[in-house]
Amino acid sequence: MHLERIEMTGFKSFADKTVIEFDKGLTAVVGPNGSGKSNLSEAIRWVLGEQSAKSLRGSRMEDVIFNGTQERKPVNLAKVTLVLNNEDRYLDYDFSEISITRSYNRNGDSQYFINKEAVRLKDIVDLLLDSGLGKNSFSIISQGKVEQIFLSKPEERRTIFEEAAGVQKYQYRKVEAERKLVRSTDHLSRVKDIIHELD
Ligand code: ATP
Repeated sequence: MHLERIEMTGFKSFADKTVIEFDKGLTAVVGPNGSGKSNLSEAIRWVLGEQSAKSLRGSRMEDVIFNGTQERKPVNLAKVTLVLNNEDRYLDYDFSEISITRSYNRNGDSQYFINKEAVRLKDIVDLLLDSGLGKNSFSIISQGKVEQIFLSKPEERRTIFEEAAGVQKYQYRKVEAERKLVRSTDHLSRVKDIIHELD
């Protein structure tokens, strides 16, 4: 699996549709200060489900939408699509190409798509769980993160190894299963009450 392409429209400094193709191997993004290099890596994290405006250097999610310049009016919609090559079926999804899209409108409308079908954020998180490509995964090392890793507590650092070892998926599923068990136990006790009343 590898990242083939990113398409951005209305995301931060990318007002017009901008398509960047990534060849296999190493791609270096270079440019002067303020030309949008960090915005590009933030677009990748955003489409993977980043919910914290602060970690995208904004104060609200609306800040990811192109907010105009002296020459250009702001736009109302930010949309980013990541296209992943999945020919090796690394991701558990039976398609050779997977596109993941996120869009956000100034009116607060937020949408996610996998291969152009509307999905929930959870579906994207599930798809990428333990793939090394989640929004918090260590395939994206932003400025300051290396220092943060070295300064983190041992328990926090453990999550890095857990992700690499692929155990986070099972922890996540365990929490979900426990939640379902609590709900089912509630339902069961309600049914027992009703049976008791009927007796
Ligand atoms: P450096 O090398 O200094 O780290 P960079 O290439 O990483 O710079 P970015 O930080 O990605 O550059 O881009 C900053 C630019 O993006 C600034 O000019 C800023 O005005 C612009 N920008 C950020 N958010 C928006 C937005 N919502 N609308 C329009 N422009 C934006």
